[in-house]
Amino acid sequence: MGSILTFAEVRDGKVRRASLEAVSEARRLASPLGATVQAVLIGQGTAPLAAEVASYGADRVHVFDDAALASYATEVWARALGQVITQEKPAAVLIPFTAMGKDVAPRVAARANAGLVSDVVKLEVKDGRLEARRPVYAGKAFATVRWEGEPQMATLRPNVFPLGAPDAARRFETVTGRADVTTRRARVRSIEASAAGKVELTEAQIIVSGGRGLKGPENFHLVDELAASLGAAVGASRAVVDAGWVDHQYQVGQTGKTVSPTLYVAAGISGAIQHLAGMSSSKVIVAINKDADAPIFKVADYGIVGDVFEVLPRLTAAAAEYRDKRH
Ligand SMILES: Cc1cc2nc3c(=O)[nH]c(=O)nc-3n(C[C@H](O)[C@H](O)[C@H](O)COP(=O)(O)OP(=O)(O)OC[C@H]3O[C@@H](n4cnc5c(N)ncnc54)[C@H](O)[C@@H]3O)c2cc1C
Repeated sequence: MGSILTFAEVRDGKVRRASLEAVSEARRLASPLGATVQAVLIGQGTAPLAAEVASYGADRVHVFDDAALASYATEVWARALGQVITQEKPAAVLIPFTAMGKDVAPRVAARANAGLVSDVVKLEVKDGRLEARRPVYAGKAFATVRWEGEPQMATLRPNVFPLGAPDAARRFETVTGRADVTTRRARVRSIEASAAGKVELTEAQIIVSGGRGLKGPENFHLVDELAASLGAAVGASRAVVDAGWVDHQYQVGQTGKTVSPTLYVAAGISGAIQHLAGMSSSKVIVAINKDADAPIFKVADYGIVGDVFEVLPRLTAAAAEYRDKRH
């Protein structure tokens, strides 16, 4: 096996955590095989980010840093990635399963004439080749997939693959790439954040999620307020999303987002298996539910048997008080 190539996605001048997870996973797979790890950075002002990507395990970082790459364009990104693949002939290509990854990966796969396995949750080395596990039928079953030919391409689900420990002293090589920006049939003119100032769910260290126990959309502000006082992102169960209280982008679970924060607060959420599938790897889980037998308490580190309408405002006030004392 030669090398494993990863795509290091940049947003707002920062390498996304999901990309660092992909680099960490590539490192884990590459070490026993004696393979090298490469990463590709594309954008404006990306050169200074190479060291961070390398610290998670990349031996060689291809940097496309150009003012013409200020905003994402599928064709340009796909061409740049395709260029590196043609040049390096990696045995595998790992791309995070983010919105950008989902957009660019199929095009890159088509260019490289490669098989693409999407939304992978586990990778293993078998007989010198990769084997992937991915959910099918909305997570009701898992498929084990192997590739024919190379590169073996996969998109990796964020917050599932562990982040390695960064080593700032790690030696790496930088290769400067030149992106072909001459033809682009689509152009991003502007990007508008759907909830300005709110913390991105999949990258949040603290998440406060609300469920049907909140009774109605008019009460969801109780979740927003606790989240705001903790500097947390807001999440929700599918029941709440299906009822139209909040947008689908907030859904945590098997058919929503997979999260792995340091602290996850579940308020008025029963803890159905499909919800647990998206958050059970959180470090500390706090559950608030008036039913002492609710399944969420089986995974919770701290359980508050109580009414969300009483508990949430008290937690919000306590968090605000704590914050004020520290300042
Ligand atoms: C294929 C498939 C995929 C799915 N994917 C997802 C997914 O991605 N994410 C997801 O979340 N679900 C998913 N579901 C749905 C899941 O099975 C549950 O229906 C859903 O998670 C329930 O949401 P909930 O806990 O908010 O609501 P409920 O199950 O109705 O639970 C509400 C909870 O609130 C408590 N409660 C009520 N009033 C109060 C109060 N005043 N104070 C405190 N507690 C109170 C109740 O005791 C109860 O435990 C999926 C289902 C299927 C079939």
